[in-house]
Amino acid sequence: MDALQGKVVIVTGASSGIGRAMARCMAQQGAAVVAGARRRDELEALVVEITAAGGRAVALAGDVREEAYAEALVQLALARFGGLDAAVNNAGSLGALGPLPALGLDDWQATLQTNLTSAFLGAKHQIPALLARGGGSLLFTSSFVGHTVGMPGMAAYAASKAGMIGLATSLAAELGPQGIRVNALLPGGTDTGAGREFADTPEKLAFVQGLHALRRIAEPMEIARAAAFLASDAASFVTGTAMRVDGGVSICRT
Ligand code: NAP
Repeated sequence: MDALQGKVVIVTGASSGIGRAMARCMAQQGAAVVAGARRRDELEALVVEITAAGGRAVALAGDVREEAYAEALVQLALARFGGLDAAVNNAGSLGALGPLPALGLDDWQATLQTNLTSAFLGAKHQIPALLARGGGSLLFTSSFVGHTVGMPGMAAYAASKAGMIGLATSLAAELGPQGIRVNALLPGGTDTGAGREFADTPEKLAFVQGLHALRRIAEPMEIARAAAFLASDAASFVTGTAMRVDGGVSICRT
């Protein structure tokens, strides 16, 4: 498959889970990938894997809460691959969970910064590079949590992920005239570090699986394939969506 041949893509949160699968999937489809996250060794292993398979990738370790890092990822895409065609602002974490009155302001701010402010900072620096290319695709990994499903104890996470949908919707209207498509991607439960942190016992995992119409959670590559589609020209008329790739968790009541 070569749906992303000639495209340059930034993927944050590429050191594990969904982001790692996105980077691998997009490289397999021909994209040159700029991979970001904090864990340097995991990123380097990813670059080695992609390169060994005949793909193109480069990594830069850093923290998505820092504006200089958002800028550096874009500069790296320009310097190494000559431009930017798509970006997936995917890095995120569950943050502190529990009843809201027990949540400290610092917990709240940490979750918002990691999930939502990082998306703003990423977009802020990615947009000019996409415009210079004459258009492109911006993606934000959101969640069903806070959009179609309310989950107790997840207020900060839900607010951050719902905020990403608002960000994507607004940017889709703002940037559509200039040829930039903007979408939020909403995975269902997915078998990653974060997924296992949430469902950390066999009982909890069975409960989470049962929430999905498909009665299972996703493999990261199942989410990555949807991101690759949204990044590609195959999605040329898809913008402003909150695309659910969620195994039916949003519509299931039994
Ligand atoms: P994961 O394996 O824990 O991946 C999270 C990624 O984000 C890691 O690569 C992590 O890298 C990176 N990251 C976190 N904080 C960062 C920071 N401050 N700076 C830079 N990178 C940071 O979990 P995942 O499930 O793949 O999560 C990916 C995205 O999918 C998240 O936005 C999550 O909210 C969303 N999501 C997941 C599920 C699910 O069930 N798994 C469902 C819906 C949505 P480092 O630790 O190396 O920095």
